[in-house]
Amino acid sequence: MFFTQSQHAHTELLQKERRGFTVTEPLKGRFAPTPSGRMHAGNICSALLTWLSIRSQHGTCVLRIEDLDPRAQRPPVADLLMEDLDWLGLTWDEGPYFQSQRTEYYEDAVNKLTDMGLTYPCFCTRSELHAATAPHMSDGTYVYPGTCRHLKPAQRAQKAATRPPATRLIVPDADDPKGTITFTDEVYGPQREVLATQCGDFLIKRSDGVFAYQLAVVVDDGLMGVTEVVRGHDLLGSCARQIYLQRLLGYPQPHYAHVPLLMGSPTRRLSKRDRDLDMGVLREQFGRPEPLIVKLASLFGLAQPNERLSVEDLIGRFSWAAIREHRADIVVNPEFLYT
Ligand code: GLU
Repeated sequence: MFFTQSQHAHTELLQKERRGFTVTEPLKGRFAPTPSGRMHAGNICSALLTWLSIRSQHGTCVLRIEDLDPRAQRPPVADLLMEDLDWLGLTWDEGPYFQSQRTEYYEDAVNKLTDMGLTYPCFCTRSELHAATAPHMSDGTYVYPGTCRHLKPAQRAQKAATRPPATRLIVPDADDPKGTITFTDEVYGPQREVLATQCGDFLIKRSDGVFAYQLAVVVDDGLMGVTEVVRGHDLLGSCARQIYLQRLLGYPQPHYAHVPLLMGSPTRRLSKRDRDLDMGVLREQFGRPEPLIVKLASLFGLAQPNERLSVEDLIGRFSWAAIREHRADIVVNPEFLYT
């Protein structure tokens, strides 16, 4: 079933892209998981809130598997992920798209930015970056000091002989208004980032040839006509880079809604290593999807923890105002979930 859906939607998308269409459906959202491990309770919450927002606004839901990084990708995980979403009743209307099959679009975008004179090869090693830079506030990437921006052609050629370069995007100087990005997140409110001081020239392609998440996500959201992005709070700090890229590549800016993270403890985010809260165990413990979904929805004030409801019943209860009331990160434990 997935295969047919995928083939069909992919062909349709390619046709739209070839005809140079901008997709204009009223609301289109997406769930864009990275298949690096089985979904855990936090991933389910992001998928659920994405789905509820889309369904409550009669929008279209895209499923996009973000399997760009061959190191993170484990082939059976994507199948399991779709099977888990299916079991949960979190249906999608378009896709699955696989980023690993879309690299020509990312290459086009990098070429376009290069033609605009906005990229340069970067030869810095990971340890050089650690030594010379300060971490980006939100995601542990580095504020790049521009080391390779001003290399002379001869220096580039010399370095390229021993090391394949990454590609960086030049951001405007701090006093250039184009480099100050402001937007309002549906849950976390007004945001502002000065790219030059808070991020620096950022990676759009890694030295091993893998396109950067920031680039791929912007190209995909743009080509797929995504109008609403719902995802974990940990990605709020990526928005400024993504909005800047959207402006350069001529894509409209989607509406952003970041949702609280589920934490394994007050100081540690739930991770795919927390096997006691992964889909395998959750499915075994709950037996059916409804009680699990309702339990998770209760964390956001959308239900009582043990209420008898279907996934569809939650659509009418969903509102962003409710999520705003529960926007602090949430600690979950097996005791809460399984009793
Ligand atoms: N693939 C990312 C993740 O699994 C989400 C990307 C996004 O929603 O923009 O964390």
